[in-house]
Amino acid sequence: MRIRKSQRCAGISQSQIRAMTRECQRVEGINMAQGICDLDVPDCVIAGARDAMDAGANIYTAPEGTPELREAVAAKLSRTHGLDLNPNSEIMISAGATGAFYAVCLALLDPGDEVILFEPYYGYHVSTLHSLGCVPRYVRLQAPDWHLAPAALSDAITPATRAIVVNTPANPSGKVFSLEELNVIAEVAQAHDLAVLTDEIYEHFVYDGRSHVPPVSVPALADRTITISGLSKVFSITGWRLGYAVGPADVIGPATHLNDMVYVCGPSPLQLGAARGLNELSPDYYRAISDEHEVKRDQFCEVLTSVGLTPHVPEGAYYVLADIAELPGGDDHARAMHILERTGVASVPGRAFFADDAGVGLTRFCFAKKQEVLDEACERILRGLRG
Ligand code: PLP
Repeated sequence: MRIRKSQRCAGISQSQIRAMTRECQRVEGINMAQGICDLDVPDCVIAGARDAMDAGANIYTAPEGTPELREAVAAKLSRTHGLDLNPNSEIMISAGATGAFYAVCLALLDPGDEVILFEPYYGYHVSTLHSLGCVPRYVRLQAPDWHLAPAALSDAITPATRAIVVNTPANPSGKVFSLEELNVIAEVAQAHDLAVLTDEIYEHFVYDGRSHVPPVSVPALADRTITISGLSKVFSITGWRLGYAVGPADVIGPATHLNDMVYVCGPSPLQLGAARGLNELSPDYYRAISDEHEVKRDQFCEVLTSVGLTPHVPEGAYYVLADIAELPGGDDHARAMHILERTGVASVPGRAFFADDAGVGLTRFCFAKKQEVLDEACERILRGLRG
């Protein structure tokens, strides 16, 4: 007997990232496919979680998260985003930025609603929308610098459009949306009464003297933006599953009920570790990791250039899309496999980030590796792909 499954299962498959990770394990290679940051977790974050466990903070928290973490997020967003938030009604802690995005989408969107995503996109955003029966509408950013063409955005709006997703700095392109671009988005959002859902998980990683412009800081977006971010990347705690959504109380309230149904709450002692990190780490900490990623970006992009895999040098985040169109193989998967076979370095074939074949000449590497691992990857690429 086969148990009947929902229609949404038909559209679900193993992500390219997981598939390449498996291929990488097969050849015992260096995994630059997965977006995992290998840096150490800050001591105060670990100590905060350990102290919380010892003190008995091991039971459910409120679905909106512990007061300590909500207050720490409010203080953080006052410093970085200039927001004056009520931690009791405008902040929800969830299972990573992923959980926060899902709960907010559940609260705002109905099946059939259309949502604008910028291409190249982060696959989880697309899968989340599909799983809810929503319809992603893609607006392609213009290579090589991935700028936004305003007409492309207005052309994608239909009467069914409900929201725009802005991932800045973006995975996989490393694009950092400028104030001018956010103003364009604001104009369209206002004209069509759209919500703006952000994903700012890489907000602290911006290069070449750029700054992260939080969409909510654009006056015309202030009351229609749900700001989503998390601690996975900045504290190197991807397995702790901690993120948050911030916005008007009439959105965060229902999103919190839905978050309760799916996740119940974030891990209790880990929330207290993250709160300690937010409260105690100084701006120097954030600057230092951004600088470290920038040095690694430069090192890796130079190697890619020298073997003819021209990089789209990222402005932020810790991924780079490289041009692999000249490598042997009929498509992006075959070419990424060629790189893996020749060098033992895994990447993600470019079509994972586009709705059509536009990514067929691209692959994505994550360069947030420990220095010795990145050095080894660079050497392997030079050895395996030069000339
Ligand atoms: N958003 C983006 C754009 C990402 O690239 C990732 C991880 O790769 C996530 C969210 C996942 O965040 P979290 O671990 O907080 O769920």
